Amino acid sequence: MFEWIIALISPYLEKCPEAWLGFLDHPAPDPRKLIKILDLEPETRDFICCPTCFACYPLDTQLRRCTFQATPNSAVCDARLFKSDDKRQPVKKYMHQDMSHWMARLLARPGIEDILDRPLSAPAAKDPISMRDIWHATELKSFKGPDGETFFQSNPASEARYALSMNVDGFDPAGGTHGGRHASVTAMYMVCLNLPPSERYKLENVYLVGIIP
Ligand SMILES: [Zn+2]
Repeated sequence: MFEWIIALISPYLEKCPEAWLGFLDHPAPDPRKLIKILDLEPETRDFICCPTCFACYPLDTQLRRCTFQATPNSAVCDARLFKSDDKRQPVKKYMHQDMSHWMARLLARPGIEDILDRPLSAPAAKDPISMRDIWHATELKSFKGPDGETFFQSNPASEARYALSMNVDGFDPAGGTHGGRHASVTAMYMVCLNLPPSERYKLENVYLVGIIP
């Protein structure tokens, strides 16, 4: 992993603060320290998640059971939030990455804002019927904002408007079954549709919204 990080930052080494260069010259640098110095870890928050209705509660909640009601007259969910009252081991947790933090990290990368703010793509003039991108259809392009103007095409110069698509999927982190048991992890991902399709699904551009282990 360390070699991978070095390869990633090597084009920018000239701009690195002195402290970083000293660290990189260390004969056995600790990759965890480097990850921290370079702020490579996304900013995430953990919640206790109801196993039945998926309502979220802070980790220090004093509740033992879920109090969520879909409407004021609905029955309370009342699912157990902890495996055991003594150990306070949550039945389910949810890890969330705030969109504002992810977006800030994305926009801080050199050149990304220019790519995001380029004019929306149009179908090829030679073949205006073939659609190769979501922006070639009229739905998003003609989507109107509260002012009645097309939301994604008539934004003020001082304002950026981005569209994102979302995917929720579960997977077995062990890659299969062990002893007949399935381990399931649910992940939520979003991609920014303002990025061109060639950039949109690159790992570094995908927004990992949250994970329910
Ligand atoms: Zn619940």
